[in-house]
Amino acid sequence: MLADRRLLLKVITIAPICAAAFGFLAATFFHWNSLKKSDKIALPKPPVVEPSPKPSSKLNLIKPLPLKYQGKVFEKVNVPPSEKVIALTFDDGPLPNSTEKVLKILKDNQIKATFFLIGRNVQLHPEVVKKVLLEGHAIGNHSWSHPYNHQTLAGAAREIDKTSEVIAKVIGSKPNLFRPPGGLMHNGLSEYAKYRKMGIAIWSADSQDYIKSHTPQQLLSNIFKQVKPGGIVLMHDGGTRRTNTALALPILIEKLRKQGYRFVTLPELINLDSKSTTVEKLKPSIISKF
Ligand SMILES: [Zn+2]
Repeated sequence: MLADRRLLLKVITIAPICAAAFGFLAATFFHWNSLKKSDKIALPKPPVVEPSPKPSSKLNLIKPLPLKYQGKVFEKVNVPPSEKVIALTFDDGPLPNSTEKVLKILKDNQIKATFFLIGRNVQLHPEVVKKVLLEGHAIGNHSWSHPYNHQTLAGAAREIDKTSEVIAKVIGSKPNLFRPPGGLMHNGLSEYAKYRKMGIAIWSADSQDYIKSHTPQQLLSNIFKQVKPGGIVLMHDGGTRRTNTALALPILIEKLRKQGYRFVTLPELINLDSKSTTVEKLKPSIISKF
């Protein structure tokens, strides 16, 4: 009985202390929690960091070259008689103003073409290259510095590989088509491109827009002398301002359309190849011909 009383007395004495201690702890907890919440509200939101656009596979629209075109030189493509198609090609870009002028004409006419780019220009104007690709055109390699003189193996490798690499940095993959500067076949570049199993795209209709004295009318006349289905037309969007090319281009498109032509990129043209079945085998000795 006495022990019970003592216990009761202890409980009566300790209980208020416990209650007070509990109250203090609870108050501290709620206060700290509210401080934490207000701290959270007060903190500025971290800036949203957009992932930097990678030259990723999303942009990579270059499909593997069919085997029979790997290391092959061609100036036109054998297409079925039902396909009245032609490929417009533009060399020596990118050059901001003149390439963009050509792009606008092509876009206005809903036409896709092929651009053979010079590596050092790609390095200077990657944004123009991206535009070329995003507007649906095909891209090829036209060497780093457009040399005409003979190239050693190392020189040719530098000219072609460096260009392919800088293009790949921008668009996500290396081109598999090469156009030799000046159409030269024996200064070491074409031989190296063959060794690399690239398709060597020459042309069947030369506008001669690189001759300054040629008027837009002359450019058209030069092209129409050589126009045929499966043909490849050579023009320029770089090198220098191509005013006459830009003046001739809309008329060329209109006239070709009136003749029933449809415009395709070089990869599309190659895919229409119906006759040639020969696969040109690369001779291992080709590399020793430098
Ligand atoms: Zn050129």
